[in-house]
Amino acid sequence: MSIFISPACILNPMDLPLAKPPWTKLGRRLESMTRKALYEHHMLDGVSKVALALSGGKDSLTLLFLLKAISGRGFPELEITAIHVTGEFSCGAGVDLPFLKAICYQMEVPLLIRESTQKREGLACYSCSRERRRLIFDAAKEVGATTIAFGHHREDHIQTLLMNLLHKGEFAGNLAKLEMIEYGVTLIRPLILISEEQIRIFAREHGFHRITCQCPVGANSMRKKVDKLLYELEALFPNARSNLAQAGFLYGSEKARKNPQKTYADH
Ligand code: SF4
Repeated sequence: MSIFISPACILNPMDLPLAKPPWTKLGRRLESMTRKALYEHHMLDGVSKVALALSGGKDSLTLLFLLKAISGRGFPELEITAIHVTGEFSCGAGVDLPFLKAICYQMEVPLLIRESTQKREGLACYSCSRERRRLIFDAAKEVGATTIAFGHHREDHIQTLLMNLLHKGEFAGNLAKLEMIEYGVTLIRPLILISEEQIRIFAREHGFHRITCQCPVGANSMRKKVDKLLYELEALFPNARSNLAQAGFLYGSEKARKNPQKTYADH
């Protein structure tokens, strides 16, 4: 199912939590960190079309607002298409679609919607996220975008790193840029240097922090448990998060690059 938004489904722009420059102090910081990640990892070299995985949660909306703000300002003008996966279960299910459509309309970003087949019974993050990812890849290619931006942030990277290390003895976090040759797409993660807490505060500043994943599997996932573990580690080692993230970038990249399918799925 493909849906391009139309003016008929517009909510009052005044009611929408849109984030645009001029930024707050935090907004300026986030834009600068995003620019650094884009620049240092050559994420947009030769790229004019970008597909953006838009679950509608705080991370993907932050990514949308920041990429739109950066487009054409020191980077090439980007043709951004948002892709949302809906369905009974998928991260982003339960997001108010008219609300998401209205945001995209106001941001002048076309929105494509795809339907996941996941049902509650037998639901598991691994298969669910794989299907969602496949739907996003296919939709991106339909609009001629082979670069796909995901809203993964520093904590996603650290959690992936710890899960791979503790479960499989592999040191592999999330890469900032990953070419998936077998699918003909390149994943980019422009928010990879930004902490989840910074995104949370930014979302609160602009009023889009209320949308969260309602999935019961996600609430009890290994990722959530590792997240709790991180708080305990941080109590003992205050710089644990930044050190783990840095170690992952320095030493955990090659493994993730060689074996992207075998590392923990993002979610
Ligand atoms: S939390 Fe996991 S199972 Fe639930 S929707 Fe997200 S990826 Fe699917």
